[in-house]
Amino acid sequence: MTDAGGRSAPADADWAAAVAAVRAVPPAGRVLLVCHVNPDGDALGSMLGFALGLHRLGLRQVQATFPGPPRLSEPLRGLPGEQLLVPAAEAVVDPDLLISFDAASESRLGELADRLTTAGSTLVLDHHASNPGFGAVNLIDPRAAATSVLVDELLSRLGVPLDAEIAECLYVALTTDTGSFRYEATTAAVHRFAARLLATGISPGDISRRVFDTRPFGAVRLSAEVIGRARLEPAAADGHGLVWTWATQDDLARHGQPGYVLEALIDSVRCTAEADVSCVVKQTADGDWAVSLRSKGAVDVSRVAVELGGGGHRLAAGFTGQGSADDVVEAIRRELAAALLPSNGD
Ligand code: AMP
Ligand code: MN
Ligand code: MN
Repeated sequence: MTDAGGRSAPADADWAAAVAAVRAVPPAGRVLLVCHVNPDGDALGSMLGFALGLHRLGLRQVQATFPGPPRLSEPLRGLPGEQLLVPAAEAVVDPDLLISFDAASESRLGELADRLTTAGSTLVLDHHASNPGFGAVNLIDPRAAATSVLVDELLSRLGVPLDAEIAECLYVALTTDTGSFRYEATTAAVHRFAARLLATGISPGDISRRVFDTRPFGAVRLSAEVIGRARLEPAAADGHGLVWTWATQDDLARHGQPGYVLEALIDSVRCTAEADVSCVVKQTADGDWAVSLRSKGAVDVSRVAVELGGGGHRLAAGFTGQGSADDVVEAIRRELAAALLPSNGD
């Protein structure tokens, strides 16, 4: 099976160019690290882990940022390197080097995308097959389980050893994107990487409890309500089945919860044995919905997401939908049918 973009792992020349780009920055040079909007554990952990690595190399003018409001969801707060975060509005406009983490396209960098043209040089680290390679130097490996795998390799080539602070960031990134080592990208090499991270002395139990297993009581009750209204459509996706549910801003308000608590819902909904495809439609504003799509393998949901203006991976993708929740789900049903046409099969 080939990845949608047909992209292969970075070549030695790409790694050498990335190392040269970092080494070309003088000690007083400015480096701006950016990751995708609404950062998840991989985006933030990869970015902060590398920011700490640049500090270890003696670079002192390192900023890390992401587009949109400068707020992290509660589970992602307190990571080492957090002190290097600045609001997007305060990010240096013309850094000597700009490095992008876990963003599949320029648009995922929001208002920070303009730095791609004003930076002295640009480097992209990512693992989305759909990434067009929007940096001057690109380290993009669709087979990497997380962007943090690429960060680890680049730090190693730069001669920066893993320490407990860097390891905590990269462990959060790795466990987020592998579903705590459950997804298919979890290779022997991923476990060897995890073993090296744990060897620095970090505590996986504490980290996982903080990042994945701590929610306010109101979020538990909200989850019950949203999962309780899930719909199963066995005939959808050409008989492979679709299960979906939705949550509104009003649901959040009634339970007094911030939007991030909806992120974990897809993991409960996708357990449904009778459906290959699962979906949670989350209202972000009036008429705007953040959509999470998952597949067990029969359907490439990144195709569905790309057709609807988003992106992602074969088994996990997303997009921003418009209209009512029913409009959004109807668009998904239509694209699922199209994605399963024989001419699109792989
Ligand atoms: P999520 O369901 O938010 O966990 O996202 C699953 C995957 O879909 C992520 O790895 C992203 O790569 C991708 N994704 C989610 N939302 C979007 C979007 N609006 N545009 C592009 N890619 C997205
Ligand atoms: Mn991500
Ligand atoms: Mn990722």
